[in-house]
Amino acid sequence: MSRTPPRKKRDRAGEAFAEGMRLLRANPALAAVDFTTCRSETCALTPREGLLVADSDGIVHAHPDRLAAPGAWAWALAHAALHLGFGHLPAAPGAREQPDRYDLAARCAVVNRFLLGFPVGTAPEELPVSYPDGDEEQLAARWRAHGLPRAYERCGTAGSAPDQLLVAWPSWQGSFRTVSRPSPPP
Ligand SMILES: [Zn+2]
Repeated sequence: MSRTPPRKKRDRAGEAFAEGMRLLRANPALAAVDFTTCRSETCALTPREGLLVADSDGIVHAHPDRLAAPGAWAWALAHAALHLGFGHLPAAPGAREQPDRYDLAARCAVVNRFLLGFPVGTAPEELPVSYPDGDEEQLAARWRAHGLPRAYERCGTAGSAPDQLLVAWPSWQGSFRTVSRPSPPP
């Protein structure tokens, strides 16, 4: 037991996040996906639920205080990196129309299906153990026509909210958002 507690509170959430980043970057395929991370307390894009949201500027907005194991962060970061790597978040200028729930769910399903055969970190326990065949468009069209199965409704990294956000490019990076680039692996 420590009798002299450190004056500065340890940022346990930040330490776990950093370790999750390290686990992700240790994976050669995913280390190649370029993105920046934001953990600002005042960022408007921080997810209310879950761990993180990826935007079309290539910025992954992580919840600054959420306590999660490094493996959980690594999996969520891999999920976000794959949304970016698979082209789910194209950059474009002007007003953006957000993907509907079928597109969102289909893209998360394709990402998670990939991660089943390419494990990084620790997947959330509540996720399905398998996903249907088909690409993003096929899955979205099928679910739009026949209904979105409950099992695939919340397969992203932001709870029941979208984990993919299209923003106008180049976005205004004012004081509401602090962006820090992850340091490269040694
Ligand atoms: Zn997702």
